[in-house]
Amino acid sequence: SWGIVKQDLKLKVGHNNFVTWIEPLEFGSLDDGILTFRVPSMFIGNWVSRYFCDQIIDEANARGAGVRRLAFVVGEPANRPVPCNGEPDAAPADKAPAPARTAAPASGMTITGARLNENYTFDAFVVGKPNELAYSAARRVAEGGPVTFNPLFLYGGVGLGKTHLMNAIAWELRARDPGARVLYMSAEQFMYRFVQALRDRQMIDFKQIFRSVDVLMVDDVQFIAGKDSTQEEFFHTFNALIEQGKQIIISADTAPGEISGLERRVVSRLQSGLVVDLHPTSYELRLGILQRKVEQFRDQFAGVRIGEGVLEMVAHRITSNVRELEGALMRLFAFGSLIDRGEVDQEATRECLSDLMRTYDRRASIDEIQRKVADHYNIRISDLVGPKRTRIYSRPRQVAMFLAKEFTDRSLPEIGRRFGGRDHTTILHGIRAIAKLCDTDSQTAEDVDMLRRVLRDI
Ligand code: ADP
Ligand code: MG
Repeated sequence: SWGIVKQDLKLKVGHNNFVTWIEPLEFGSLDDGILTFRVPSMFIGNWVSRYFCDQIIDEANARGAGVRRLAFVVGEPANRPVPCNGEPDAAPADKAPAPARTAAPASGMTITGARLNENYTFDAFVVGKPNELAYSAARRVAEGGPVTFNPLFLYGGVGLGKTHLMNAIAWELRARDPGARVLYMSAEQFMYRFVQALRDRQMIDFKQIFRSVDVLMVDDVQFIAGKDSTQEEFFHTFNALIEQGKQIIISADTAPGEISGLERRVVSRLQSGLVVDLHPTSYELRLGILQRKVEQFRDQFAGVRIGEGVLEMVAHRITSNVRELEGALMRLFAFGSLIDRGEVDQEATRECLSDLMRTYDRRASIDEIQRKVADHYNIRISDLVGPKRTRIYSRPRQVAMFLAKEFTDRSLPEIGRRFGGRDHTTILHGIRAIAKLCDTDSQTAEDVDMLRRVLRDI
C-alpha cells in the first residue's frame, strides 16, 4: 500500500524532502500502471514529478505495484492530470517508461533493471579531491574496451554520489554501445527478483538471464549482507560473469571487508578488482556542487535570485552529504518562488533552512573542543595548547583551532588567547592549513569529520 511505500521513501529522500514533498501526496488511484496522487497545489505536483518521480516509481515497484508513470491532480480527482517527466498525457497506455532495459529474455521471463535517472550523468557530476579517484575509475570502466578493473567496487557514505556514478556509467556504456546488455539494479531489487523467481519456479530462467548480461551493476550491495540465499545466488552470478570476462560494478556504503554479515569468500571476490571510495565532501566541493545546481535551477525558477554569500553559508553549514545539500538548495528556490521579490538572502536562508542548520548551531565551547581533540589524538590538553612544535602536537592543535572557528563565535584573537596566548595570525595560518589538508589528505579529512560528528552530539 501507499503507506508502506511512503515509509520506504522516507528513508530514500531524507526527512526534509519527505516532509515537504512526499507527505502531502494523497493516494488517488492506481490504474493501468498509472499512479495518481491528489496534491494540495500544482506547485507540489510539478515539483514531485520533476524530482521524485523515479524514486516513487522505483519504490512502488519494489513493492510490486507495477507502476509505469505518475499523475497528479489538484484536489478533486476529476481534474486533468499532470504527466510525469513531461511525457505527454496522450501517451498510449502501453508505452513503457524510458530506458529500463531488459536482459535477454530466455522464455518469456524478463528482468528489468532500475530506471536510470537522466540527470545522473558524468557531465553533471562535479569532481573535487574527495571524489576524483572514484570518478576516474568510473570513467575508465565506462569507456568499455578491455575489462580492466573487475569488479569495480565503489563505496562511500550515503548521499556522496555512488548511485549517480553508477547511473553515469550505465548511460555512457549504453551510449557507446546501444546493443550492450547493461543491467543496473539495486541489491534490493536483485533480492526481490530472486525471491520472485524462487516462488514462481523460474530459477533456471533467472540464472540464464543474469548470466547473459554484458555488464552487471548492483547498487547498495550491503543490503544482501546476512540474507543467506540471496547472497549465495549473487555470488554464483558474480563468479559466472567474471569467468566470462563480463564487467561487474558494485556499490556499497562501506568497504567490502567492513560489511558485516557478508561471507569471507564473497568479500574476497568483491576485493579482487579495484576498490575505490568516495570521501566526505570538502567545502570547495560543496560550493562547486551548489554553483552547478544553481545553474540548473535557474531555468526552472525564473525570477528567483540567490543572494550574496548564501551559497558559501550553505556550503559551510550543511556538511553531511550532497543529497542534503541539494535538498537545501531546492528548498531555497521553492521558498524564493513563493516570496515577493524572489531574492533569497542570508537572513531568509537561515530561516528557511533552520532545521537543517540547527545541528551546526549547537555551539561547542572551546574547552569541549580541546578536550575532544586531545582525546581523539590521545595527547594531553596541556600539550595541545602548549608550545611544543612537533607534528604530533601541532597537527591536533591546528585541527582544534579549525574546529574552534567552525563551532564557536569567537574571534581569532580570542581563540589565540585560549590556545596558550597565540597571536591571531598563527590561528589563521592553522585554520587555513587544516582547510587545505582536508582536501589533500584523507586522514585529516577523516579526523575532522569524525570530530565534527562528536562535537555536534555534545
Ligand atoms: P549515494 O548513492 O552515494 O547515496 P547519490 O548518488 O544518490 O548518493 O547522490 C545523492 C545526490 O547528490 C544525487 O542527487 C546526486 O546527483 C548528487 N550528487 C552527489 N555527488 C555529486 C557530485 N559530485 N556532483 C553533482 N551531484 C552530486
Ligand atoms: Mg545510492
